[in-house]
Amino acid sequence: MRKRILLVVLAFLMLAMSSCTLFDGLIDDESSSGSSATSSSTSDEIKHEHSFTKTVVPSICDQKGYTRNICACGYEYIDDFINPTAAHTFVRGICSTCGEISFADILNLVSTEAMKANVAVEAVYSNKGYAFSVEMGKSNGSGVIIDYSNGEYYFLTNNHVVYHKELADKSNQIKYYVTDYAGNKYLATLVLESARADYDLALLKFTSQDKYTVLDLEEGNKEIGNMVVSLGQPQGQPNTITVGKITNYGRVKITGSDVTECNVSFDTLHHDAYINSGSSGGALLDKELNVIGVNYAGAIKDDGTSEGSYAIPVEKIYEYFKLIGYEYEPFNNGQQSVPQA
Ligand SMILES: [Zn+2]
Ligand SMILES: [Zn+2]
Repeated sequence: MRKRILLVVLAFLMLAMSSCTLFDGLIDDESSSGSSATSSSTSDEIKHEHSFTKTVVPSICDQKGYTRNICACGYEYIDDFINPTAAHTFVRGICSTCGEISFADILNLVSTEAMKANVAVEAVYSNKGYAFSVEMGKSNGSGVIIDYSNGEYYFLTNNHVVYHKELADKSNQIKYYVTDYAGNKYLATLVLESARADYDLALLKFTSQDKYTVLDLEEGNKEIGNMVVSLGQPQGQPNTITVGKITNYGRVKITGSDVTECNVSFDTLHHDAYINSGSSGGALLDKELNVIGVNYAGAIKDDGTSEGSYAIPVEKIYEYFKLIGYEYEPFNNGQQSVPQA
């Protein structure tokens, strides 16, 4: 069946959020439990009392160690054991010894820290006359704060969130608004020459005395299979977090949308964290809470559920920065924490 891929922008309808089931890594596989030491021998084998040499393989930090019991005859069995004193040392959701992820810790960090970099973005199109102006329409999406300089916060969003050709053609004024995670609304301005249809990215800034999180861009694209966290306003629901993994990199041809100026001609990041209308321009983060993409499109099945999510990958964001002459440096200088501005 052909899938219909719609751009995720504009209409806000209430839909239930899909849940995420990507925690397979935490499920213990019981199938490797040790077999019995008294298993039968074949008839031509010389019967003997096994004499086991024990090799203890301790758990590093997940409590699940085991003992290999090997007899000189080659027979061996494994004894699992629980070491109640072993424990992961989670630093910001990632074990510093074995790399295990604590999803609970990461989601806690996302909601308390990273979410303060999430914004809702609105472009309002109007026809301004001498006496009054007529509003022609609005486009909405999400954005992510990625820089702070001289009292101004810079955020990324999609070009198609801040430029809707049909509305723009009927208007002589476009105003941009940004709403922070707490619901405060500000006027925003487009960084000159930063709205690029060929990357479907735009860079805007706003001034605020409030403190927000500034998220760093990851150095390069992450491999397929890596965990992703999506931030944004799917269906207009503010500050929504969804979790998934990178499923592919490849071309996407967008159809079924009235927005035509965002078919990028490079491989985009495909993932399975839920996004929907209003998620456009929102951040896609890795488990270290660095930006690895900007969501821009989603495959919506006929029943309205999300089938695939697409983001502009971080390496294309760097390319875009070069093209628009924006000198980007990681605000947090690679620190593991996510400090406030
Ligand atoms: Zn033996
Ligand atoms: Zn560990």
